[in-house]
Amino acid sequence: MSTNHFSSTFTQARKRFKNAAHAAGATISSYQIDVESEQELAIDVAILGEEGAPTILISSGVHGVEGFFGSAVQCALLNQLNQVSARSNVRYVMIHSVNPFGFSQLRRFNEDNVDLNRNFLSNADHYNSAPDGYASLNGFLNPESPPSKFEPFKLKALWTIWRNGLQALKQSVAGGQYQYPKGLFFGGNRPCKSTRVIYDNCDAWIGSSEKIIHIDLHSGLGDYASYKLFLAEGAESKNLGWYTDAFGADCVEPLDQPEGTAYKATGPFGEWMQKHFTSREYRFVAAEFGTYDVIRVLGAIRAENRAHHYSDKTSSAYKNAKAELLECFCPSDASWRRQVTESGLKIIFQATQALGNLE
Ligand SMILES: [Zn+2]
Repeated sequence: MSTNHFSSTFTQARKRFKNAAHAAGATISSYQIDVESEQELAIDVAILGEEGAPTILISSGVHGVEGFFGSAVQCALLNQLNQVSARSNVRYVMIHSVNPFGFSQLRRFNEDNVDLNRNFLSNADHYNSAPDGYASLNGFLNPESPPSKFEPFKLKALWTIWRNGLQALKQSVAGGQYQYPKGLFFGGNRPCKSTRVIYDNCDAWIGSSEKIIHIDLHSGLGDYASYKLFLAEGAESKNLGWYTDAFGADCVEPLDQPEGTAYKATGPFGEWMQKHFTSREYRFVAAEFGTYDVIRVLGAIRAENRAHHYSDKTSSAYKNAKAELLECFCPSDASWRRQVTESGLKIIFQATQALGNLE
């Protein structure tokens, strides 16, 4: 398995995705995200296979910079599907780069500083408030100044974890907040442009398929080069057995798992999709591929956010913060890239096999 599906810019990734989709015979639709930018920013959707056939839906780049990894898996898959025998009676819908601004700017958040995985709220009244605990951490998470090399972030983070517990910290920090527009994990005040593209077009993309397995590709959480599949339903769900049969019990994590790797986010993409397609057999996994430890990753997200809001774009502080964020969500290590591409394709293959058991 080659690692050459990894691009070095958003524009390159977009071009390669569209070329691979075209070569595989997919239809491609593009949705411009109207934001001032040097590059054209768009979500591209490639669809392959018969209308109405059981569907594998693969989305990438909800968290911008994570799209380097997600795009690579999508391109690797398209190259495989190029060989007709690999297709079978399955429809593939690939959403490339849900957050093109973040992807192009090496950000996890979008043009409105929004974490899109906190923006899919079914009730507009819920775009307010922040979890208990976020206010007291705001000063630590979101200093109103450029990042500094000399700040003892790691010590501060360890102290905060020691006082709160890692799980409580993950929950209150990363669960989503709607009160601090320049802060980390801000969920927005209304549905963002990308969110509206999904709202307006997902019915057309899915068509009349009755069986859908959605794999949303993420990176930056968990052990290096390994993965977990986070569900949008709890351990009590009648579907749990289907997930563990399909993907293996050791990598499947239902919602609300005590001491789990994840935290409960508000307004996630997958939960909204699952509710929207509730009358169909719709299964969702957020596939999270690990990179570095939580403190390093949180430090990178925090430094990049400070650089984005308070640094000169030509400064070395800005460039270093971007480079570290990219490394934290898409390590340059060839072995990481090879392993995650192989695992990504394996999960998609397992999902394709498991479509037959969906009922
Ligand atoms: Zn993510």
